[in-house]
Amino acid sequence: MEIHILASGSTGNAALFKFGNTTLLVDTGISARRIEQGMAEVGLKAGDLDGILISHEHNDHIKGLDVLVRRHQIPVFTRPKTWEKLPCRHNFLPECCLEIEQEFSIGAVRINAFDISHDAVDPVGFSFYYQKKKVVMLTDLGVVSSRVEKALEGAHAAVIEANHDLDMLENGPYPRFLKQRIKSSNGHLSNVHTGRLLARLPCLPGMRVFLAHLSQQNNHPDLAEKTVARILSSSGYKPGKDIYLYRTFPNSRSSISL
Ligand SMILES: [Zn+2]
Ligand SMILES: [Zn+2]
Repeated sequence: MEIHILASGSTGNAALFKFGNTTLLVDTGISARRIEQGMAEVGLKAGDLDGILISHEHNDHIKGLDVLVRRHQIPVFTRPKTWEKLPCRHNFLPECCLEIEQEFSIGAVRINAFDISHDAVDPVGFSFYYQKKKVVMLTDLGVVSSRVEKALEGAHAAVIEANHDLDMLENGPYPRFLKQRIKSSNGHLSNVHTGRLLARLPCLPGMRVFLAHLSQQNNHPDLAEKTVARILSSSGYKPGKDIYLYRTFPNSRSSISL
């Protein structure tokens, strides 16, 4: 199994998962050209994709969707209300526009889509099950519900948002309404939120965690990793042993295989 975060941050998100012969892309928030380049770097072509999953309709998750799907006729999976927010659907073949339910499968992968709290019409997180392994994709959420905690239980790997540092957000350049929006229950998780979430979960030993969707204005990869690691350490976890943290970047790839 391989996970390649092609890009992550407020400017654009795309995460590539290779489960054996099944290749999935979650979100297309960078250009089709960059997705094709990122896939080529790991020996794959866009035509190899078995499906594209869209978490929600914000531009940093769909920017490259129209061109990518028109160019390669890849099936796209999202919720019905999210489809209504995607005018590009009219450019796609009907067989490329697929609606997801709570449980579905693509190729060899079983997928569970679960509700998250965010200011989009019907946003989702995803749990992937493949050969006794579970991987969770979880960005763009303002609060951690019991449903989200349940989704993370027993995960071997997860891509989790650590969007902002609260002090950087407070003292940063964003207007007040935007700061409030980010901090709200429909906004984004801070580094501290994410650290606490991981610290209170019954994590599997050696769980791999990508810290994702970092704000370029209100966070820094060093700070996100240090904050989460500090909270984990104070809860008795040994980062780098009990749990592995990986940074993600807006303009370069971050990969693991497991
Ligand atoms: Zn969003
Ligand atoms: Zn986003």
